[in-house]
Amino acid sequence: MSVHDLLYLVPNSTPPKVVRGEGVNLYTDDNKKIIDGTGGAAVSSLGYGNREVIESMKTQAEKVCYVHNMAFTNEPAEELAHILVSQHPDVFARAYFANSGSEAVEAALKFALQYWQLRGEPERTHFVSRKQSYHGNTLFALGIGKMVSRRAPYVGVFPKVTSYVDPCYAYRCKKEGETDEQYVYRLEKQLEDEFLVVGPNRIAAFIAETVPGTCLGCATPVDGYFKAVRRVCDKFDILLILDEVMCGLGRTGTFHAWEQEGITPDLQTNAKTLAAGYQPISSVLVSHRVYKAFEESNAQLANFHTYQAHPLACSAAVTVQKIMLREKLVDKVAAIGKYLDEQLHKTFDSHPHVGDIRGRGVFWGLEFVKDKKSKQWFDPKYKVGALISKVGIKNGAFLNPGAGTYDGVHGDHIMVAPPYIITKEEVDTLISILAKSIDEAIASLPN
Ligand code: PMP
Repeated sequence: MSVHDLLYLVPNSTPPKVVRGEGVNLYTDDNKKIIDGTGGAAVSSLGYGNREVIESMKTQAEKVCYVHNMAFTNEPAEELAHILVSQHPDVFARAYFANSGSEAVEAALKFALQYWQLRGEPERTHFVSRKQSYHGNTLFALGIGKMVSRRAPYVGVFPKVTSYVDPCYAYRCKKEGETDEQYVYRLEKQLEDEFLVVGPNRIAAFIAETVPGTCLGCATPVDGYFKAVRRVCDKFDILLILDEVMCGLGRTGTFHAWEQEGITPDLQTNAKTLAAGYQPISSVLVSHRVYKAFEESNAQLANFHTYQAHPLACSAAVTVQKIMLREKLVDKVAAIGKYLDEQLHKTFDSHPHVGDIRGRGVFWGLEFVKDKKSKQWFDPKYKVGALISKVGIKNGAFLNPGAGTYDGVHGDHIMVAPPYIITKEEVDTLISILAKSIDEAIASLPN
């Protein structure tokens, strides 16, 4: 039995063992260099081995690693909350910390439920989500999302408080000849109809990823989509939760992805780039509207995790966010993102099996098709996205496959979401390995 069998219960699986990371590269125990084209799972924004973050963790570890946060507060947690809230003090009143993206989503859902209880509308317990979506692995978050493969073993037990509308997925769902305005109107109408079918005064919140990662491979929203979503939510007084666990904190070229949509959320989740993988930590940003309900009732969110607001995790996140601000990394993302955009299009626009290239900043998705004209998928049994990822690792680049499904059919995409610090030369290396790996993987399929 290999150690990996012990860890992940995957028989006969021996993925490469990483022993070191530096910049955008990982190194395995057999000294192979792998450029990390997805920064793990869109986590590693600063790359690996950042001395400043490591030193700040050492300093904090010498002071205090853990305090029980029901009885105490701690310096890095307060500083982190201040940094996050002060980016948009007009929008957010408070920051709440948890340990993973899933926990942040669960907390955001609880904030919404408790908000309505405090407002005297306890019957608002229903959530509306989107048909292709992923919001985490814990049972409730998995139930709210629609990731078919991870949900499959548990479908019978999900809470019956969610319904689903179409996501904004122009490549496959915008009709021929339809303008962006018409497409947005169709989605707006569908959302409104769903609210009316459920009964608006039974709905706590609508939840969506601003730019969706896992299940939709960075399918950017069409202009005006989120304005329409906000409009319908406001019309029925329904809270809007934006899940920016993957797309947030700089990745799309603005600090929050919603800044490019001309709207603001009532609750927002963040995780992956919060501490850039140096520590596990996530947050919920709470708007003035939601916080006011808690403040007026002197209420506390009925949610507690032993390790939340963990001093060591918060200290890593504080340093990561200070570097982000000091080095103006959001602007650098926009600049290197433009280069990535150009190179992806230059390399793959004419590729017969790359159906769509979409994204923003350093958050890009390539969707693979058997036939470009009909947009027909490859046979799901070949798991082409996962195969390209596997071949990519062999060729020296890690690129995370998405878990796309459309109308219950498995779809293939690859996410290109490198660390924010990636250089043009490294982008070139990444794209040339990706191109080689796509061709090699597809050539290996039976006809
Ligand atoms: N929400 C989104 C949008 C995500 O992308 C993820 C992770 N891929 C999660 C929630 C869950 O985060 P975690 O894996 O840290 O629990």
